[in-house]
Amino acid sequence: MIKENVKNLLEEIPQTNPLGERVTLVAAVKLQPAEAINEAISAGITDIGDNHVQEFRDKYPFIEGNPRRHFIGRLQTNKIKYLIGKTDLYHSVDRINLAEELSKKSAAAGIVSNVLIQINIGNEETKGGFSVDETEEIYKKITALPALNVQGLMAMLPFNADEARLLRLAQKMREKYDLLRAQDKNIKYLSMGMSGDWRICVEAGSNMIRLGTSIFGERNYNK
Ligand SMILES: *Cc1c(COP(=O)(O)O)cnc(C)c1O
Repeated sequence: MIKENVKNLLEEIPQTNPLGERVTLVAAVKLQPAEAINEAISAGITDIGDNHVQEFRDKYPFIEGNPRRHFIGRLQTNKIKYLIGKTDLYHSVDRINLAEELSKKSAAAGIVSNVLIQINIGNEETKGGFSVDETEEIYKKITALPALNVQGLMAMLPFNADEARLLRLAQKMREKYDLLRAQDKNIKYLSMGMSGDWRICVEAGSNMIRLGTSIFGERNYNK
C-alpha cells in the first residue's frame, strides 16, 4: 500500500515545476511508525519531515537508508537541543525568538542550520508564521543571525479555500519568494503543498511539497 502510493506519487509529481525547478518530495511522517517510514524510504522517499520532537527522538535510531531530515512542526525553544545537528532543514521558523535560539544553539554546536521562514499566507489564527507583508523585514532579521542559513519560505494554505483562492495565495507566496531569491543566492526552497493542494502549489511555483496522507493513508490520531 505505502510502496504503491510512493510509486504512484513519484510518477505523478512532475520532475520540475513550471519554472523548471526540481520538485522535492518530503514525506510528512507524524504518527507513522518507523516500519511504515522505512517502507516509504525503500520505495524511493529520500526526505522525511517530523512534526513532534518526541516522535523524532523515539524513531531516530530505527530509520533506515539515511534520508534527509526535515523538521516541519511547531518547535518549542526548549526542545531545539534534541534536533541540533540532526536536522537538514527547519521549515517552521515562525517566531523571531525561535530563530534567535536556533542560531545560538547552532553556534554552540559549531554548525550552521538551514532554515525556512514560515509565512501564514491565509492569515489564520490556528496557524503559526509571519504575515506575508512582513516577509522581507523578517528575512533581514533572521538572515542576520550568525549561525542560520535562510534557504527560503514555507507556507500551509488554508484547508477550506476554493481552488481560485488557493492559487492566488500560492502565487503570492511565489512572488515573495522571488523577491528574496533576487537578492540572495542561498534562497532555493519554497516549501508549499500538502496532500490536498500540492498540484495547485507546484503549478504556482512551489519546489518542495510535504505529503503525509497520500503516502501513508489517513492518520489515526487515537493510537
Ligand atoms: C501533516 C503535515 C503535512 C502533510 O499533510 P497531509 O495533508 O497529510 O499531506 C504537511 N506539512 C505539515 C507542516 C504537516 O504538519
